[in-house]
Amino acid sequence: MRIVLLGAPGSGKGTQSQRLVERVGIPQISTGDLLREAVARGTELGRQAKEAMDSGRLVEDSLVLGMIRERLGEPDARRGFILDGFPRNLAQAHALDRLLEALKQPLDAVVQLEVDSRELVRRIAGRRSCADCGRVFNLLTSPPSGAGAVCPKTGAPHRLMQRPDDNEATVAERLRVYDEKTRPLIDFYRARGLLQVIDAEAAVDEVTARLAQALRVPALRAPKRAAGARRGAAKRARKPAKKKAAATAKRTRASRASPKRRSTRTRRAKAPRAGAVRGARRRKSTRR
Ligand code: ADP
Repeated sequence: MRIVLLGAPGSGKGTQSQRLVERVGIPQISTGDLLREAVARGTELGRQAKEAMDSGRLVEDSLVLGMIRERLGEPDARRGFILDGFPRNLAQAHALDRLLEALKQPLDAVVQLEVDSRELVRRIAGRRSCADCGRVFNLLTSPPSGAGAVCPKTGAPHRLMQRPDDNEATVAERLRVYDEKTRPLIDFYRARGLLQVIDAEAAVDEVTARLAQALRVPALRAPKRAAGARRGAAKRARKPAKKKAAATAKRTRASRASPKRRSTRTRRAKAPRAGAVRGARRRKSTRR
């Protein structure tokens, strides 16, 4: 399955991508993560990207496209991918089209996570990520707890850090840039019959359930977590999901592609290959 997650900063693309990686078994490709890694390693690309990132502007298309071309060429991306934070403007979307056409791997779905701008600012202020494993938390809505409080990389409690661009001034600029450059992609993908919109202003588990439903993937296939926590989460997600799922299905139907495309997507989504699942678990990607 080849998916693009669209949404403003703080809309939950990273968090939901990480959950999809666990459930669908395809890699998350986050240009933000790749750029932050390049900055941390002090590469030439990182050096060139840093100033734009620190001020909340977009990094130059040529840099981002080179990075994406390389990443999509890696073997694990042949099974599919979740693009998170890319494309971010129309030029990037056209370039992605051409790249995937050459690879004969068209997109299956583009999902927009919709969140009100006041809520975005609140979420970003509380956002922290583990410096070691990259898992994303929110001090207000989803702080580390229970078995999830221990970092799988170090075995110690997560070392929570705030991203340097999550400060007030930069956040305002990132939201402005999203409206100006990225929002037009909603119409771009709607016109191609690929767009699905989900209301992402809900608890993390609930948004995962809505996303899974939009993509037709088994919502509650257990990620690797403690069995007790898993049962609890499944129960919580199942209950409220019922009513809201009907509403989401209605919304989803309204913005869905042609029936032909839909049945193809459904078949692919329902049967992820076992090998693919194992492979992506090995390569679990990190973000924020
Ligand atoms: P968020 O979605 O929360 O703004 P990301 O981690 O996706 O955060 O991106 C962080 C920063 O990295 C962006 O503000 C931008 O400077 C840069 N960036 C990420 N993806 C792209 C892209 N596709 N094109 C240009 N710049 C990008």
